[in-house]
Amino acid sequence: MKFKDDVIWKLSEELKKKYDYYQEEFDKETRHEMNEWARLVDRYASELKKYELVCSFCGQHLADHNVNAECPENHPKLLSGRSHPASEHSQQQ
Ligand SMILES: [Zn+2]
Repeated sequence: MKFKDDVIWKLSEELKKKYDYYQEEFDKETRHEMNEWARLVDRYASELKKYELVCSFCGQHLADHNVNAECPENHPKLLSGRSHPASEHSQQQ
């Protein structure tokens, strides 16, 4: 019955190797997926942050393209008689 034992042992070794292999592959796959999700969440969070930036004068949402642009409401006329150029948007805190 030595032969049978050998076969069983070989088969179980084979199975163990396969199992380890799949376990490793699964881990890799899972880690990759987690990284993808983390990246998506990061991007989503920064998108959301953009929309939280609102001009305290005109209420416009401030994004990269208009944060340094002229604000239609932020004209500090009342501060003095001198004429001021239009000011930029100002973020609410
Ligand atoms: Zn503004």
